[in-house]
Amino acid sequence: MPLLTCWGKSLRKSRPQSWSSFGELDAKLPGFFEGRVPLPVIYAQDHAPIEPGKVYFARPDRHLIVEEGRLRLGHGPRENHARPAIDPLFRSAAEVYGPLVIAVVLTGFLTDGTAGLWEVKRRGGIAIVQDPDEAEVPGMPESALKHVDVDHCLRLKDIGQALNKLAADAVKKAPHLASLGGESDMDYTADMPVAMTCATCGGALRKITKGTYTQFRCHIGHTFGTPELAKEQLERLRSALEASARMLNERVKFFRATANETSLTKPESMAWEAAAQESETRFDQLTKLLTADWTRPELAVGSSKLEPPRIRPARNAATRATLPSRTRKSAGGNAAKKPVNGRQTARMTRRPTAAGSAAQRPK
Ligand SMILES: [Zn+2]
Repeated sequence: MPLLTCWGKSLRKSRPQSWSSFGELDAKLPGFFEGRVPLPVIYAQDHAPIEPGKVYFARPDRHLIVEEGRLRLGHGPRENHARPAIDPLFRSAAEVYGPLVIAVVLTGFLTDGTAGLWEVKRRGGIAIVQDPDEAEVPGMPESALKHVDVDHCLRLKDIGQALNKLAADAVKKAPHLASLGGESDMDYTADMPVAMTCATCGGALRKITKGTYTQFRCHIGHTFGTPELAKEQLERLRSALEASARMLNERVKFFRATANETSLTKPESMAWEAAAQESETRFDQLTKLLTADWTRPELAVGSSKLEPPRIRPARNAATRATLPSRTRKSAGGNAAKKPVNGRQTARMTRRPTAAGSAAQRPK
């Protein structure tokens, strides 16, 4: 089964010829095609099998990922400021179906799709680009033509016919080709950082060695010794976690108040309440990190009197970070922690306050 992946952006209802679009504003997009195209046009569902004769749209705020025989919806990092983005779709399709993939880049701003199209070509697939001269926004087709050895640059009216022919040829040429396997792109993954960054301003850090003393200095002058950098990093990390906890707490209050508005229908009210409960659970998960005792190697610098800390065996060497969907469900509850290493850990729980920063759970 050849996999046809056709993408573009900037659909305008008044100009239906620039079809196949996505984005957070396009929540009702598939309905637009009802009765206008002979194939069913639907939003992709997570884990849904890929069925021939259907057109799948990426859902707002989810990457559309191809795995063997099925589609996945991922919440991985935005690419080119977009989620869904074209690159992860093309890349995952190319990894799994290689030469059976035919990828099309249509009108759109900037360069999304170029890297994905390059992967499609590298794995033997076919690259089609809309003629930028007729594209409503030529950025994406032009970028693809500039960087990828594109097979066909076609006007919109000719792309459908070309797809039919190429799909039929692909089936004839490579009926034996099954999935190539390959990893899907669902997760945030932890690669090696390109450079250390300044914990104060985020600029790249330069390592300076003065005899046996090491300093780190950013390009506007923030300077740290090794223990000072470790200390500053932890402070920044904690304040980022606190900011996240604050936002989650606000969401609980906001969503619960919205759920209790009398004008809402029952399903809508339940959806807001479910979101409030989800934020509450995630607040609890986050505060476990905030109140955890962190190992502070900087405190051991220069001290020969401290007990060396225990070193836990490393987990799987692959440094894959995980998505919330992969993390085990927390049992919830409060974030109380036992003191570790004799140090009293703070306790942070959601409680109604006089300032009203926390929501009351309705009885
Ligand atoms: Zn700096």
